[in-house]
This record gives sequence, structure tokens and C-alpha cells, in this order.
Amino acid sequence: MNTSLPAERAASLAEIASVLRRAQRVLAFCHISPDGDAIGSLLGLGWILRELPPLPTAETRQIALVCADPPLPQLSFLPGAEHLLTASPAGPWDAIVAVDASDAKRLGSVFRPDDYGAAPIIVLDHHVTNLHFGALNYVDTRAAATAQVVVDLADALEAPITREAAVCLLTGLVTDTLSFRTSNTTPEVMRTAARLMEAGANVSEITALALNRRPLAAIRLWALALAALQLDGNVLWTQVTLAMREAAGSPQDGESGLAEYLLNAPEARATAIFSEKTTGAVEISFRSRPGCDVARIALSLGGGGHPQAAGCTIPGPLADAQARVLPLLHRAAG
Ligand code: AMP
Ligand code: MN
Ligand code: MN
Repeated sequence: MNTSLPAERAASLAEIASVLRRAQRVLAFCHISPDGDAIGSLLGLGWILRELPPLPTAETRQIALVCADPPLPQLSFLPGAEHLLTASPAGPWDAIVAVDASDAKRLGSVFRPDDYGAAPIIVLDHHVTNLHFGALNYVDTRAAATAQVVVDLADALEAPITREAAVCLLTGLVTDTLSFRTSNTTPEVMRTAARLMEAGANVSEITALALNRRPLAAIRLWALALAALQLDGNVLWTQVTLAMREAAGSPQDGESGLAEYLLNAPEARATAIFSEKTTGAVEISFRSRPGCDVARIALSLGGGGHPQAAGCTIPGPLADAQARVLPLLHRAAG
């Protein structure tokens, strides 16, 4: 548990489990521009809640899983992905759950806390930058993925992990740890992964589908972005302009993985990708080596993340965003 969590809002998994066990109608969300951990944790949670025994007062439990943006094609193999909603159905609800999101804004405009009446908002997350925006917040910053938190919740609920749940949750672990290569890959991560494999999830298949598969247009975009690479001190960075994206064939989420890739250069202590959006805003992805904290920078710019992987969206144009952010990155990279 994150010890900095305000005591009155920090909840135990046992408390959260007792709310969810009694809830007939649950509405759950994950963050916008969802990655494998967001979608995997949301779907995994859905599969786990469906395994709970029926309530004496009702025939079935109703579980609505909402993400403001649809999953990327490389995540469409996940069991249940076809039932994800991009808009919230009408209430009332007994409990609201947010997974893998460090603040309410990250859930997009589909998340409307004013509409939920007395239903408690439950936050399940692992970001060090989490703002504890729920009534019941469980934020385990040592967890490598929110999927780990969902596995721990399943145990607190004494709910079985079916093959469907295991595939979704192992996808969260695989994508957030880059297939068990990040510095937060602990023996606990490996134990959970083994358990999910025993429940029927195939790690090599998930890695091939959810992590390694990259459309040709995305590879073409990398070529253009790599050609614009700059090393300033020990900060290695580049940009993705709208023109580059169009020239590459407009890949969806084409930058994904690029900031990590730059960190392969031993010269780099921190990396950044500045991406120009059609709105004029600039989305920034940060990666760093242990000892250089990019979560702090992202949080100070209105974003969030983890010490070694973070992001934010700030006003453009690109040159202004770079002039504002690169000095911060230089200072952190020492
Ligand atoms: P990305 O570079 O998009 O892969 O994101 C790296 C990490 O930072 C992930 O854990 C994201 O959830 C987090 N992150 C990225 N962008 C934002 C944002 N605008 N607000 C909060 N967290 C973010
Ligand atoms: Mn995520
Ligand atoms: Mn995550």
C-alpha cells in the first residue's frame, strides 16, 4: 500500500471486496487511450465479478465495462473486448470502479461522478501519482500493473480466476512490464504470471499479440521519428509531427514502444517522445533509468505515471513544449 495515501481514504481490499460482494450493479472504467493493463484489468475485473455468487435479492449481477476510447486492434483478442462500451449506460449503480487511472480526468468525459448518487467510487491502481479521487482508494505502487491489484482483489473476494480472466490479467502484466523486463519485475510478478498461466493464459501468445505486434505504418513512423533523434546531454528525445504521421500512413498509437526503445542507447538516462496532436496539444511520453524520476515531471505538468515511465499532455506548439520540458528532464537526468 502507498503509505502516503490519506488514511481516511485508503481502503483495504477486504473493505472493497465487501462492497463489491453486495453490489448488484457495478459500473467500471479504465483510462482513455487504453493500454494493455487498462483494458486487461477492466475486462479481468468483469470476469471476476461475474464469478461472484448471485445476490439473494436478484437473479443476476449487472456489470458494465466502459472505456471512452475503443481498444486498439492488438487488444481485440482479449475475451470480452467486444462487449466493452464507449458510453456509460443509465444508472442507478451500487458501485463505481476505476482501474489503472491516476486521476478522474484520465477516465475521460464518460466518467460523471455527479451522476452516481450514493454509489461509492472505488479506485484500483498502481501509479505513484494517483490523486486518490475515489471514496475507497487502493493504490499499490509496488504492483507492476493494475492487473496484479485485480488478482489480489479476486483473492480478497475468494473468486476463482477463470481462463478468460487469466488471459486479460496476464496481458496487463505483460504489457506494463514489457514482458517481464522492467525494473519493477519482482518475484511476486513472476509468481502471479505463473498462476495466470496455470489458469490457462499463454504468455508467448499474449506477448506476440499484445506487445510485439506492430503495424507496418507504425514501423514507418518510427523510421521518420528516429531520423529526427536528438541527444542533449544524457536526454535522448525525438518528435512525431502530424506530417510524419500522415507520411507513414496514419498508424493508430504508432509511438507506442518508441520511448522505451530509445532507452536501449547506453548514452540515454532519460528519453522523451513529443507527439503533435490534431488539437494542437503535445502528448509526451517519458522513460528513464532507475534513479531518474520522470513521474514527478509528468505530475508537475498535469500528467502522471511511474518513476520510470510517465506521460502528460500540454499545450503546443512542439517547439514551445520542448523548450518547457527539456530543461526539467535535463535536471532530473543529472
Ligand atoms: P505512455 O508513455 O503513454 O506509455 O505512459 C506511460 C505511463 O504514464 C503509463 O503508466 C500511463 O498511464 C502514464 N500516463 C501517460 N500519460 C498520462 C497522463 N496524461 N496523465 C496521467 N498519466 C499518464
Ligand atoms: Mn495504463
Ligand atoms: Mn498500469
